[in-house]
Amino acid sequence: MSQSDKTVSASQTMGFQAEVKQLLHLMIHSLYSNKEIFLRELVSNASDACDKLRFEALDNPDLFEGDTDLRIRVEFDQEQRTITISDNGIGMSHEEVINNLGTIARSGTKEFFSNLTGDKQKDAQLIGQFGVGFYSSFIVAEHVSVFTRRAGLPETDAVLWESDGQGEFSVTKVEKADRGTAVTLKLREEEDEFLSGWKLREVLRRYSDHISLPVQMLKEEWNDEKSEMVVTTEWEAINQASALWTRPRQEISDDQYKDFYKHISHDYEDPLAWTHNKVEGRSEYTQLLFIPGRAPLDLYDREMRRGVKLYVKRVFIMDDAEQLLPAYLRFVRGVIDSSDLPLNVSREILQESRDVRSIREGSTKRVLSLIESITEDTEKYANFWSQFGAVLKEGVGEDISNQQRIASLLRFASTHNDSSVQNVSLADYIGRMKEGQDKIYYVTAESWEAAKNSPHLEVFRKKGIEVILMSDRVDEWMMSFLREFDGKSFVSVAKGGLDLENMADEDEKKHREEIAEQFKPVIDRLNKSLDGQVKEVRVTSRLVDSPSCVVVDEHELSPHLVRMLQSAGQDVPDMKPVLEINPEHALVQRIKDESDSEFDDWAQLLLDQALLAEGANLKDPANFVKRMNRMLMGS
Ligand code: ADP
Repeated sequence: MSQSDKTVSASQTMGFQAEVKQLLHLMIHSLYSNKEIFLRELVSNASDACDKLRFEALDNPDLFEGDTDLRIRVEFDQEQRTITISDNGIGMSHEEVINNLGTIARSGTKEFFSNLTGDKQKDAQLIGQFGVGFYSSFIVAEHVSVFTRRAGLPETDAVLWESDGQGEFSVTKVEKADRGTAVTLKLREEEDEFLSGWKLREVLRRYSDHISLPVQMLKEEWNDEKSEMVVTTEWEAINQASALWTRPRQEISDDQYKDFYKHISHDYEDPLAWTHNKVEGRSEYTQLLFIPGRAPLDLYDREMRRGVKLYVKRVFIMDDAEQLLPAYLRFVRGVIDSSDLPLNVSREILQESRDVRSIREGSTKRVLSLIESITEDTEKYANFWSQFGAVLKEGVGEDISNQQRIASLLRFASTHNDSSVQNVSLADYIGRMKEGQDKIYYVTAESWEAAKNSPHLEVFRKKGIEVILMSDRVDEWMMSFLREFDGKSFVSVAKGGLDLENMADEDEKKHREEIAEQFKPVIDRLNKSLDGQVKEVRVTSRLVDSPSCVVVDEHELSPHLVRMLQSAGQDVPDMKPVLEINPEHALVQRIKDESDSEFDDWAQLLLDQALLAEGANLKDPANFVKRMNRMLMGS
């Protein structure tokens, strides 16, 4: 930077506003672990200054002074131990310099200072919420100078502001040929790491890749003679200099969207779909959100880093803000750029901000519509579902306000096509319901095979009533939240007393009642012989081919869920099931007249085989085998 030494008038020394002193002191001591933010703040100020110039020049194009190529430049000087961030934006007048860089004029300043406690950790958090801006230079610099001229003012009306951050600053009227601002930091002894082109580029890329202005540094080349990198005189942009999401949709090609996705997600494959919108209203923000083609390896880790980057006014803020989307949409990648949030927004603020809440609600709805639009392409949706379906299911329990919308996106295997492919929607199911049927029937099991072969399905198969087959780990949990869809309630075929009465004809009902009556003595005997192991024995209306099955009451945890919880180390008490027997089955017919000792064996066998069919582990498998062999030999 060719800094003019031409002093126009003597310098003036002034004291910082008391609050600035406090802020400087606090900041230097509390933001030390995060010191590279000074670059973000200064580049962001430079970018704002260019935005302001652009805006003012709308009415007064002369402000451009013939130079409309707005840019930000970053230079360093190893000998002088300085870094200079310069822009050709709006610049500052003498008065503006004093006001802007000597006081804090921001709203909320009073509140901020009255909240300071003197406790370093608490105050450090507060400072993050408040936003440190320009003053963050003093985290790494022992001396800062600001050399600036407001666009449109004469060259002799430039200002040099200088301070060592100790309580005073000086302002001197100087000459400056080009408009705009150059901030020069003289680094403290221990901050030499920033005096490297490599380090500066690395930090700048992270924070400014999508600033719409070019951030330039002097090119470095390998010099064979010196055997080192040398700085040339040619400027090169080190960011992409284009905030893709700020451009109108119609000006962005699919390939550009895809490239951008790959860039932010570090994915090699194309995204499955994306949505790009500028939202206006109470909260203003732009969202560009992608659904990847493939699930990341850590998808099931609910703590995995979220993939939506938060920008505020095109300045990158953070890339793992979990408040922007609910956990069940953690596979979404992209950018949300808010116009309302403060630049130095902290995680604490994100948690409480109303703006963030409305961004989260709005973005959730957008992603759900995006997923809805994928359903129109069956093959594409099948791909989506196989990758992300099980995660989306978490939304049924997590996001009650969108529960029905999420439910309509669910896909299941069912007895309709008896395939393990999950492609049946609840709407498909309802469309195929039998006359008189007003419930959605489902079964949960450890695997699709176990679900498909569950004895609980027998009567449904016989009557041609479709049953949804669920075997994802999350299904049981999900179904504890999903009570109904489209006005139809869900019923587990393994729970409670099945009420298929309004689908049974008169003869059938009568027949069942007669048999139950006839079987009462057998039921009594079974109850006695299995006392302590089961809650009750009763005649079933579920079974056709099997002699017996176990069921639980409607509001009890299913045996499958109990096993899942137990295997996860949770302390769940064993529950006694209800044993239902099929009076039409030959085996059951046969035990009617058995003697008491034989009868006990048969009773135990009916219970054990029902438990096995349902996927449970027997408490005493060796005894089961022994008993069965004895009975086989005897028959
Ligand atoms: P904030 O940017 O949050 O307002 P800062 O302390 O970073 O707070 O800056 C204070 C003010 O100084 C800015 O609002 C702006 O008016 C002015 N300023 C800072 N940097 C520049 C710059 N590079 N060009 C023009 N004005 C600037």
